[in-house]
Amino acid sequence: MSDANRHDVIVIGAGVGGIYQIKCLTDLGMDAILLEGDEDLGGTWYRNRYPGCRFDSESYTYGYSFSRELLEEWHWKERFSSQPENLKYLNYVADKFNLRRHMRFNAYVESMVWHENDREWVLTLTGGETCRARFVVTSMGPLSAPTLPDIEGMDSFEGESFHTFWWPKEPVQLEGKRVGIIGTGATGIQVIGEIADKVGELTVFQRRPNWSSPLNNSPISEGEMAQIRTRYDEIFANCAASPSGFEHLPDRRGFWNLTREERVAFWDELYATSGFAILAGNFSEIYVDEEANKEISDYIADRIRQRVHDPETAEKLIPKDHGFGMQRLPLETHYFEAYNRENVHLVDITESPIERITPVGIETAGESFDLDIIIYATGFDAITGAYDRLDIRGVEGQESRAKWQDGPTTYFGFMTHGYPNLFMIAGPQSASGASNFPRAIEVNVNGVTNVLEQATLQGWQRIEARQTAEDWWVHQVEESYSKLLLRKGKGWFVGYNSNVKGHETNKNRYPAYQGGGARFAKLFGEAMDDGFRGIKIDGQAESRLKPLPHGGS
Ligand code: NAP
Repeated sequence: MSDANRHDVIVIGAGVGGIYQIKCLTDLGMDAILLEGDEDLGGTWYRNRYPGCRFDSESYTYGYSFSRELLEEWHWKERFSSQPENLKYLNYVADKFNLRRHMRFNAYVESMVWHENDREWVLTLTGGETCRARFVVTSMGPLSAPTLPDIEGMDSFEGESFHTFWWPKEPVQLEGKRVGIIGTGATGIQVIGEIADKVGELTVFQRRPNWSSPLNNSPISEGEMAQIRTRYDEIFANCAASPSGFEHLPDRRGFWNLTREERVAFWDELYATSGFAILAGNFSEIYVDEEANKEISDYIADRIRQRVHDPETAEKLIPKDHGFGMQRLPLETHYFEAYNRENVHLVDITESPIERITPVGIETAGESFDLDIIIYATGFDAITGAYDRLDIRGVEGQESRAKWQDGPTTYFGFMTHGYPNLFMIAGPQSASGASNFPRAIEVNVNGVTNVLEQATLQGWQRIEARQTAEDWWVHQVEESYSKLLLRKGKGWFVGYNSNVKGHETNKNRYPAYQGGGARFAKLFGEAMDDGFRGIKIDGQAESRLKPLPHGGS
């Protein structure tokens, strides 16, 4: 192995987190390289090219906050920017800061093994090449391991078929085509709203409906963008102070202090506002109080009934097994109106299950559907999926997928006991999955950068989260779920995925910190300021990091 393959730090993944992480490390002059399995950078915004793919976050709250110059230069053209533009933005950032020279593409890491004697990780890439590093930072994305259903005959289909994550780079001809789509999560809902008026026929195979509310996208003019630029400090401060990492703050007037009429008037406003306002700007009670949740659920159900002309279809689109906000809320554009079109058909596969896929389409218990294209919008093995797909062996060869078999356990989602010198961005039990992603990412990356800067300066060889610290954090994470109604929902926030063994139920899995981005940043910042007592450095019982210069929040 050449020295070119040995580095102080290897970062895995060139998505939103990895791009910022490699910038921070190389700015400090560290010998760091980023390995990316794809042909280019962008992570989720590189892969998800399906029609309708766009931010659910207000664009100007999603961009990086670290460079004033970047904030001044970039013009977000839409309130909720679309995938091609988002990918352009990430490329702009990488080029502006000359980061590509630190990135290797088509470098898919298949395994990483901790070598205790050498105090380093040995990574093996597809093709057999190995790389070594004292420290590894994984930034592999919480939603990067797509999952397909297991349906008889899937391989026999003679038309085009793909998971939304693998949507082809070449344009897919949809015009006049008979398209079937399985899955009505945030992705399916974006696709359906976008393609309903472009395809010949669209058949939606729905198992459980999801709640959804309007995105209310709109263009951002030059003048508006200039205004936004003057507000950036305020915008990021607002996001940092909110549980969700957005500008929307929970309404503190108290659900039960208002009359029903007052609540409805407020919800009318929220429904007409953009993005997650209807959730993040709502009364906190809707997350924890069954009665309050039922009332908002009934309100949204009525909105669906108003928008969908056929009452039978409307009822099928209203979730009955979970309340509003108990699963990650998809935001929609013309989604419900799509079902008013003559070329769009809703098939409830709980009534009429899919039996097989044939060379020409989908057969349910009741009917056969001839199709040209099948779209699988069937979700992800979320949060731990990317880790489970990578063969990670820590101290004494322990596999991380074995350690996390019954659910992940970590220290702040950024380290896990038994895996020294391994740091995670948006890792299991971090706040990233449940809040505006880049806002949480920056806290996470700044923390990792701080630790690695000191490690390099002081020549530390081995850094490991203590078991006691991990136990403490796991308790915090479990507590963060305890009062929330979402623990009863069947979504990826509770580790549910019917296509992944062991994840078919929502029982006892705590994959993400649910206490909110602001609280996470506070706890993480306090731990850093206190010298990260939860981390053991070079085997010392009392080793503490110095108070850290970059701050955690
Ligand atoms: P998802 O929310 O997990 O939805 C998957 C859908 O596929 C569900 O409707 C599920 O039905 C269905 N499904 C899965 N397996 C099936 C099977 N075997 N048979 C029939 N139906 C099946 O996945 P997603 O829509 O890709 O969204 C995942 C996450 O990605 C979102 O929650 C969000 O965080 C992120 N996302 C973000 C954006 C954005 O920010 N703009 C956009 C899209 C997605 P069941 O519910 O019945 O299992």
